Amino acid sequence: MKTAVEIDVNSGIGTAVMPKISHSRGYSCSMLNNTQPFSEIFDPAQGQPGLIQEIPELRATKILECTQCGKCAAACPLVLSGFSFYNKRVIQTIVVGFKDLILNDSSIWACQSCNRCTEVCPMGVDPFEIMLATRRMAVREYALPTTAIEGIKSLYDTGHAVYISEAGIPRKKLGLPETPPTTTTYHEALLEVQTIMKKTVLAELGLIPMGVFGITERL
Ligand code: SF4
Ligand code: SF4
Repeated sequence: MKTAVEIDVNSGIGTAVMPKISHSRGYSCSMLNNTQPFSEIFDPAQGQPGLIQEIPELRATKILECTQCGKCAAACPLVLSGFSFYNKRVIQTIVVGFKDLILNDSSIWACQSCNRCTEVCPMGVDPFEIMLATRRMAVREYALPTTAIEGIKSLYDTGHAVYISEAGIPRKKLGLPETPPTTTTYHEALLEVQTIMKKTVLAELGLIPMGVFGITERL
């Protein structure tokens, strides 16, 4: 698969082409809520063997040391926001092997990279790294939301996943240069970022380099 987005030739509006992941085992994300005990929702016997091997290969090597104590969840803003798959539950879902559930849900993309979970984890599991590994898995499966595509486009174009377009005036008031001393002012650094991105699975998927709409046009 080489194309991320289909373009409407009249409007120029792109629509993300996501893989259709079927719920072959008869479950549905709508069954999930943030507080329902996991054991009431899934039958662990129906999980996908092998998923637990996939995540350590994506650099989250300590997942099997998780004791499900819940400290990471207590610190996680995703829980307060009502997302179904916060750190602890992502780990649980991986262990019992329900990949489709994670990929069909936007929770992993809402992680704020605050690293609170990693700070409080008594087992040194690094739950944040597991969230990142899960995102890597999602990219490989081509299961990423359009908001993530926008972030990738911004990262490729500016070196910042979230570019602060209105930062100039406030920075000037503080006596700072209008643009921060990052890839925005050092073009060679931006080229390095782009070189790295071109070596990732993002390039294999056709997500980068990107076209005028922040996406790769279908020819
Ligand atoms: S804090 Fe660490 S051990 Fe506890 S549930 Fe979270 S990842 Fe697992
Ligand atoms: S890094 Fe992500 S998963 Fe960890 S506490 Fe912050 S938002 Fe939650």
